[in-house]
Amino acid sequence: GPAGAGKSSVTKAFAKRLGMLYLDTGAMYRAVTWLIQQEKIDPQDHNQIKQLLKNLKLELEPNQQVTKIIINGNDVTDAIRSPQVTSMVSVVATHRSVRDELTSQQKEIGKAGGLVAEGRDIGTAVFPNAEVKIFLTASPAERARRRIIDLQNQGFSTPSLDKLEKEIKERDEMDRSRSISPLMQASDAKELITDGMSIEQVIEEIERLFRAKIPHEVWPNPSS
Ligand code: C5P
Repeated sequence: GPAGAGKSSVTKAFAKRLGMLYLDTGAMYRAVTWLIQQEKIDPQDHNQIKQLLKNLKLELEPNQQVTKIIINGNDVTDAIRSPQVTSMVSVVATHRSVRDELTSQQKEIGKAGGLVAEGRDIGTAVFPNAEVKIFLTASPAERARRRIIDLQNQGFSTPSLDKLEKEIKERDEMDRSRSISPLMQASDAKELITDGMSIEQVIEEIERLFRAKIPHEVWPNPSS
């Protein structure tokens, strides 16, 4: 789903409830963007970005609370949430070289199964054979409200609601209109519009959809 739909909070909590691994693919695009900024590379420069990818070492270390993101030895777990990274990430995510590299790493992580993954192209390009696909969304106004709360919780200064809604719409537009793996609902995904729903209600609905597809014998309820 798109920015601010609640993907991170919901997938993280859902994975924990079911005892599965959680994969935040946006964090991987953010980490590469952070590196591009650090190295002062022009985000449009295909060749320099390709060169950078040759020596890329991206590590994801899941732990209880957050997945630590380490790129070329730098722990960027917090830094990738900055507004500077957010404003450039959708440009970086248009490069075929970046998408190929990150998609292949994501597929590798998913090989063993038991994974809850979130991103723009998960049901279409990364895991087209996923057993359960959900396109999580909400109106731009609702998503802007949620992003303000996220930014406040992370200690960043917050723009006005109008400005944030405009930025979200611009990022959606860029993510939807790119030629490679655009933000798109997979034909076999269930759309879940979360306006007015609490995180708990969204998780319950996802669990209902999951249980309808995956019998208890295959994925036992951890609390039972
Ligand atoms: O989800 P998050 O806001 O962290 O994603 C940041 C950006 O990374 C998105 O706006 C999009 O441009 C890019 N992205 C992507 N494909 C994914 C995940 C994120 O292009 N699977």
